[in-house]
Amino acid sequence: MTHLELDSVTKVFGDPSTDGVVAVKDLHIDVPDGEFLVLLGPSGCGKTTTLRMIGGLEDPTEGEVRFDGTVVNDVKARNRDVAMVFQDFALYPHMTVRENLGFGLRREDNGMSADEIKGRVTEVAEMLEIEELLNNKPAQLSGGQKQRVALGRAIIREPRLFLFDEPLANLDAKLRKTMRTEIDELQSKVGITSAYVTHNQEEAMTIADKIAVLNDGQLQQLGSPDQVFNEPTNLFVAQFVGSPDMNLFDGTITDGGDAYRIDMDLLSFDVPKALVDAEITTEDVLVGFRPQDLYQARNRATDGPEFDTDVRVVEPVGTEAIVHSTSLLGDVTAKVGNFHDIEPTDQLSLTIAPEHVYLFDAESEALLK
Ligand code: ATP
Repeated sequence: MTHLELDSVTKVFGDPSTDGVVAVKDLHIDVPDGEFLVLLGPSGCGKTTTLRMIGGLEDPTEGEVRFDGTVVNDVKARNRDVAMVFQDFALYPHMTVRENLGFGLRREDNGMSADEIKGRVTEVAEMLEIEELLNNKPAQLSGGQKQRVALGRAIIREPRLFLFDEPLANLDAKLRKTMRTEIDELQSKVGITSAYVTHNQEEAMTIADKIAVLNDGQLQQLGSPDQVFNEPTNLFVAQFVGSPDMNLFDGTITDGGDAYRIDMDLLSFDVPKALVDAEITTEDVLVGFRPQDLYQARNRATDGPEFDTDVRVVEPVGTEAIVHSTSLLGDVTAKVGNFHDIEPTDQLSLTIAPEHVYLFDAESEALLK
């Protein structure tokens, strides 16, 4: 088990004094023993570079990478005792599954006898339910089976850290879901500190203990899935996490005594001051409604705004539906239950409780509420 720390880590590719690319900027991340960290963000935000610096495949330009308090910046990748799993599985095509699994153990000077290695291979194969495949070559395996072997190769040595770089990107949607549950279970079982790169927010939300949301090489938020969803630090995190996307509208905020008055195009409502932690110094705000927080006004009364919409599309998703509609505020997406009598062209009145409304400073994009 390893306590992983990134302390003021910056990575510049090329010449920093001229036209270097700042891939990662002043990153601080702390991952306690046994925790599962997910690095989440859009393409090019610096996730892979961060992972490679943890693994020793890339040197930080500034800052420290520490394992259990010891700086490892100068420790070579092969001496860091980390196991990496990549999206392309990286199996040896000419070796059987058994040989692929045992390869790392045979190569190391670990004092293990051939019988001990065989025993460990069997144990890991059982854990991953791939015992029947031990004599197969990678070409005879499905994508999911290959990824299981790749995982097996990573856990067989009981490394200090697991590093995953989009390990499920090449699998179909259904298999991705199964495999992510398996990775989650496996990591909890073996309790090895892990860092996992993905641009898929749903994957991040289901698998992470902690999520580091990155944008343009900079950390936007480090928090539990619940925190990044419910208390996003800024507009970027709020828009990147959660599906369907948050509805956003321009508005203004004014002090109305016990409450703040929010004025949007043709719609005004009050937000009790008790619900707002931040000091309000701005007038222009962005008002956010998560689709999940919008209710049909006929089913639930709230103290919040109520507005009419014209339904365009109803997309059933299990027991709920995503309803796309047009309103005086602009286009609105809502996720609602009791949707069977909602038809395109219907009028649907929506409402949201004031405690569910998000407010962002229109200029800094910081969360106000
Ligand atoms: P993706 O999800 O597309 O893999 P990412 O978030 O993992 O993206 P990185 O691969 O870490 O992003 O890249 C971060 C930035 O650094 C990008 O602008 C990329 O072009 C740049 N970069 C990455 N590797 C190098 C390199 N070896 N040389 C120069 N620039 C690089």
